[in-house]
Amino acid sequence: RVAVDGLRKTYGAVEAVSDVSLVVEPGRFLVLLGPSGSGKSTVLRCIAGIEVPSRGSIRLGGTMVDGPDIHLPPERRDLAMVFQDYALWPHLSAEQNVAFALKRRSLERAERRRLAREALERVGLGDKAARFPGELSGGEQQRVALARALVARTGLVLFDEPLSNLDADLREQLRIDIGALVRDQGATAIYITHDQAEAFALADVVGVLERGRLVQFGTPEEIYRAPASAFVARFTGLA
Ligand code: ATP
Ligand code: MG
Repeated sequence: RVAVDGLRKTYGAVEAVSDVSLVVEPGRFLVLLGPSGSGKSTVLRCIAGIEVPSRGSIRLGGTMVDGPDIHLPPERRDLAMVFQDYALWPHLSAEQNVAFALKRRSLERAERRRLAREALERVGLGDKAARFPGELSGGEQQRVALARALVARTGLVLFDEPLSNLDADLREQLRIDIGALVRDQGATAIYITHDQAEAFALADVVGVLERGRLVQFGTPEEIYRAPASAFVARFTGLA
């Protein structure tokens, strides 16, 4: 369970996130939607522990990871993250990139390799484990990043516009695979996009951000039936 309460994040005079509170129940898929600069990445980066909130608290499972005088570093949070630009190590093979996510576990080398192979097979790249990122297409590199995020089977997986660098066909295929793999694993997901179709296809719950504020939070049906404002209606393509 992810619980964000009164989250605020400022960069100097810029208020990136004003006052965001939300709860994601275990196994649920939350999509954060909103225009450029609305604070989506900042919310996600705070949950990941990459940024320190200016105010508010974040709980993951039963643990307070951010709060008054509390800040747990990213590596002590049970989560994995997938970025828009894949962020793979160029000098490591696909398999080594995935196995890297298991480094902190006290596993035998052979076991790490086996799990990495298995994760690559799950994303359809079983035959390309030895390739380096530079020898893979953009879609394949993003599949490696997805395998790396899934291999450790963390309870929470965060996605920051993972598909925005891919063409439309690939985007749709990978979106279907992400939805299936995350649900299959039983993980909780928070997924950022500014693509409305992608949001509504993946989400159990949608949060709409406007200038650092969460202006609506509900199921796709609720948002479809009763958009909270003209902005939400326009932004979700309903008006
Ligand atoms: P996009 O869709 O373009 O990725 P976003 O919704 O993810 O946008 P954020 O990246 O969270 O938006 O940024 C929210 C606001 O905070 C923006 O005005 C941005 O310029 C500002 N901001 C983000 N990171 C920093 C930073 N490190 N220093 C200063 N300002 C920042
Ligand atoms: Mg962003």
